[in-house]
Amino acid sequence: MKPAAQVREPSWRRLAFVALGSNLGESRQNILAAFHRLKALADEPLRESSLWQTTPEDCPPGSPPFVNAIVGLVPRPEETPESLLTKLQAIETEFGRRPRQVLNEPRPLDLDLISFQAEIRATKALTLPHPRAHRRRFVLQPLSELAPDLVLPGQTASVSRLLAALPPDRGMFRIVAPGGRPATGSANSGASQSAGRRLEGTRAPSTRRGSPI
Ligand code: AMP
Repeated sequence: MKPAAQVREPSWRRLAFVALGSNLGESRQNILAAFHRLKALADEPLRESSLWQTTPEDCPPGSPPFVNAIVGLVPRPEETPESLLTKLQAIETEFGRRPRQVLNEPRPLDLDLISFQAEIRATKALTLPHPRAHRRRFVLQPLSELAPDLVLPGQTASVSRLLAALPPDRGMFRIVAPGGRPATGSANSGASQSAGRRLEGTRAPSTRRGSPI
């Protein structure tokens, strides 16, 4: 039998997962710059998903596509879900978020706390795990790159199984692979490269998907 010290728990049990989204301004740059800011909150190197272009959901007709990604970070020892959310909201403000005037109005950066280890919350300020994460492809697809076996608290199925049960998003493409490598795959087809080129020309979208919260 292995000594207890050698029985390693999955690394994702130690992580907090943050969902990033943008469809206003230089979305791809915003997400990459946000990765850099999130590194400062982590105790170990950040786990970064690909960047994905996704179809707006619950948005006004004509809404532009989003750029979405997920990071997994090992929180600092003193960090709590509440203190981490406060820091995420400060970063959103740094990236130009203003107090919301209109529901689901455009934002250059949206940061949602998807989960924080096994923590559960149900307060006005914080719901953990994020209440809609388990049914959103733009969350589950990048999350499955980092933690396919993760079972979010309150769920019985893993991230990869939840993802497999969702309808496809024909407008979802990988645009930047992890580590900034050129993308070579996509969620539903092999057209990610052309999507990447399309996105580089995308500027100043004007609306955002229905907020995850
Ligand atoms: P949004 O405008 O979509 O960014 O929503 C932000 C609001 O959702 C804030 O009032 C947060 O306190 C609240 N909220 C509750 N749970 C979460 C969560 N897991 N991640 C991010 N924001 C949350």
